[in-house]
Amino acid sequence: MLMLRWAAALCICQQQVVDVEAQSVRAKAFDAAASVSEQGYEWLAWSTAHIGHRLTGSEQGRKAEAMADSLFRASGLDTVYTHPFEADAWARGSVKLTVGDGKGFLHLTCVALANTPLACSVEAPIVDAGNGLAEDLLRIGPAAKGATLLVNLGLVAAAEGTKNLHRSEKTALALKAGAASILFVNQVSGGVLLTGTASIDGALIPIPAACLATEDGTMLRERLSKGENLTARLEMRNTSERVTARNIVAELRGTKHPGEVILVGGHLDSWDLATGATDNGLGSFSILDLARLMQSMPFKPERTIRFVLFMGEEQGLLGSRALVDHYARNSELDRVRCMINLDMSGNPQGFGVGGPVGWKALIADACDRIARIDTAAFKGRSSEQIWLHSDHQPFLLKGVPVIYPLSDLGKHVYGCYHSSCDDIHLVEPRAMTNNVRFVGALLYELAAATTLPGHFTEAGLRERLMEADLEGPLRIGGDWPW
Ligand SMILES: [Zn+2]
Repeated sequence: MLMLRWAAALCICQQQVVDVEAQSVRAKAFDAAASVSEQGYEWLAWSTAHIGHRLTGSEQGRKAEAMADSLFRASGLDTVYTHPFEADAWARGSVKLTVGDGKGFLHLTCVALANTPLACSVEAPIVDAGNGLAEDLLRIGPAAKGATLLVNLGLVAAAEGTKNLHRSEKTALALKAGAASILFVNQVSGGVLLTGTASIDGALIPIPAACLATEDGTMLRERLSKGENLTARLEMRNTSERVTARNIVAELRGTKHPGEVILVGGHLDSWDLATGATDNGLGSFSILDLARLMQSMPFKPERTIRFVLFMGEEQGLLGSRALVDHYARNSELDRVRCMINLDMSGNPQGFGVGGPVGWKALIADACDRIARIDTAAFKGRSSEQIWLHSDHQPFLLKGVPVIYPLSDLGKHVYGCYHSSCDDIHLVEPRAMTNNVRFVGALLYELAAATTLPGHFTEAGLRERLMEADLEGPLRIGGDWPW
């Protein structure tokens, strides 16, 4: 009996050695193939040149959906399908900002934020609302009512530890204070203008909101601080149509646990001021190449890998919210063991995770092993943090553990976020190659793990969101689940 037990233990032990060795051989083989691939970059360069932006509901958005579907199919993935959802697709028309000082008028360049009114013309005195946080609005008090609020997008001269709010959350606060319109001041110099949604839930907001260059914002502030009375007339025309958009989904079926899904996603849609090469061509086209490469390998992952390209992220996480609702209705959510979100990721140096006990250690171990593949290119960092405003959010709020690459793309890229300069010249092919290499390595690690830790319990998630100070922003956005 003892002999038998000993033999069985030896057998399990040998099996584990073989598994670990096989895993390391597979990891090396995948990395050798991924290291020399610039296919994701080439597809992105083609798309930016021939399709342009990928705004949900636009002709270009539809072309991008069709392109992604064909690329998954051409790569030979087992299963490729679309998940259609309905959304109100906002598109910009014209915008005009005229500042008056009682003596004359000044026309300033601006761009409308998304989900602003379809037609309006509002004139109101300009009031400096600083960073537009709750404390700023408290400071200006009743003066906010009926005013054009001048608000920084970023944080300027804020007390240490102050947390910024998303522009949509600042808009919600301004609306509550009775503002007539909002002028957001970008903090990137050189006349860079930023767009993005001003709505917390994707619905149109009742007042106009636009973005001005930092230079013009500073000029207005200086004049206000000298006691000048300035008014802003903000006129805009936009359109919004009910459209059907499509998330594009592809799958590699797991060999051992096909019912357990590791979902890796990123948004394919982009804003229309440029071609969205970094936000989020970087992530979405890396996923296309990742799927192609994993499919081409002679071995398959043990768990099912589901690749999802979301549409509608920029207008308010529309595609990911719709997919999570669909999963919740069809009892599919339990099968999704974790969600890896690639949004503006490039050259990852590690992975961050938000999950209950067990996930942090699992990701840290995986990062250690991945770092052995190439210590120069991947530092094996891991961190535990949760954040909002990208496609992982709807998954997280249902308790699904979320993972994201840790990237630092540099100021030249972040300065062009949602702006007219977000173009292919900002994208380094190597940054995408390394996305594919290291996210791929993580997928094989997660697929091969003996067991994966579970989802958040409701109480555990609530506690974690509160620890991360996310109750306030989620309540403003109407997304606090309790
Ligand atoms: Zn993005």
